[in-house]
Amino acid sequence: MRVMAQMAMVMNLDKCIGCHTCSVTCKQAWTNRSGTEYVWFNNVETRPGQGYPRGYEDQETWKGGWALNRRGRLSLRAGGRFKKLLTIFSNPKLPSIHDYYEPWTYDYSTLTDAPAQQHTPVARPKSLLTGENMKVSWSANWDDDLGGSTDHGHRDVMLKNLGDKVKFEFEQTFMFYLPRICEHCLNPSCAASCPSGAIYKRTEDGIVLVDQDRCRGWRMCVSGCPYKKIYFNHRTGKAEKCTFCFPRVEVGIPTVCSETCVGRLRYIGLMLYDADRVLDAASVTEPHDLYRSQRDVFLDPNDPAVVRAAEQAGIPRDWIQAAQRSPVWALINTYEVALPLHPEYRTMPMVWYIPPLSPVVDIVRDTGHDAEDKGNLFAAIESLRIPVEYLAELFTAGDVAPVTGVLRKLAAMRSYMRDISMGDAPDESIAAAVG
Ligand code: SF4
Ligand code: SF4
Repeated sequence: MRVMAQMAMVMNLDKCIGCHTCSVTCKQAWTNRSGTEYVWFNNVETRPGQGYPRGYEDQETWKGGWALNRRGRLSLRAGGRFKKLLTIFSNPKLPSIHDYYEPWTYDYSTLTDAPAQQHTPVARPKSLLTGENMKVSWSANWDDDLGGSTDHGHRDVMLKNLGDKVKFEFEQTFMFYLPRICEHCLNPSCAASCPSGAIYKRTEDGIVLVDQDRCRGWRMCVSGCPYKKIYFNHRTGKAEKCTFCFPRVEVGIPTVCSETCVGRLRYIGLMLYDADRVLDAASVTEPHDLYRSQRDVFLDPNDPAVVRAAEQAGIPRDWIQAAQRSPVWALINTYEVALPLHPEYRTMPMVWYIPPLSPVVDIVRDTGHDAEDKGNLFAAIESLRIPVEYLAELFTAGDVAPVTGVLRKLAAMRSYMRDISMGDAPDESIAAAVG
């Protein structure tokens, strides 16, 4: 066992209101500079939706696939000078500026000048770019917030596996917000794809950083990161990424996004993990097993054998105590309510999510029951407005059972706490039903 420490985050998606306070405060702190105008270390995207940059999850078909081209892949396998030469001639597939962010405003003349018509007019987004720079006006969130009522190709791709489960009808549309930062992966593909060795994972806390002096601007990391959470600063010619606010974390202050989140939905903590098991866990054959294999890499910080191994590895005692108090450990391993984003990317991401339960009304069977209704508690979960299959595509490589298990726990907790807040005796059988 080789014990290492890792900073990690869990976000509770039921609490995100998409206000972007986290994005804006992060931008003010870290990317309020020339060359990083388009960069959002923290972004909040609408799900289902195109994401930021758009299409980043569509690893196979969007723009021919984000993965490195054949020459690029070959260059990563080859060694020494040959590797460097091939890398020079490789052409990493990159999102364009239009995939990241196109500044827009609302065209209110659509409202004021609208002729008499059957439907109420709505303000349309209008690009602020001009001339050749102006493509189709879009931005992460604005069209997605319509919950799929505007049909577009990418949504079809994202929902392709859901079949008849999702119908493009207003009554069955759904959306929720997914805040994202760099995952500070245990197996970071950005670092693996950098020909200059400029990207490194800090030994003491696992934060992944770019050495600005060593970066040569190859941008292989942008292609190599499946989450597209590393960016090219076109002014400096270097790569930049979320730093997990390490200067703040080092002095005991939370990240800017966590501190300013109005929903208080971000939990930060230190995890202990077995570094010897990371690559094996990332290599399990069955994608459904990946979230479990990653969870099993984490070590119980209360286990005396783990504590001894951590001390022998030189991890300070107060860090071990921090891991013991970590809400992240509790949410992932003790209560098993947090799941990783796209574990099938196999980078072993360290930002995990509690999937959203709401809206809780059982609309499919039109019973009028909700998930606080004890008589209908678990039946309602099987027919929630947000299809469990969609959440499973995000968090468990399509395995529905673990997501359903989390939602049952959340619904039970809601029901239990409602009893208490209403002054009723809590129904212990509900807690017993979810273990
Ligand atoms: Fe690297 Fe991307 Fe993982 Fe961040 S999310 S550590 S940029 S591979
Ligand atoms: Fe969501 Fe919190 Fe960010 Fe607002 S500040 S968008 S609630 S994560």
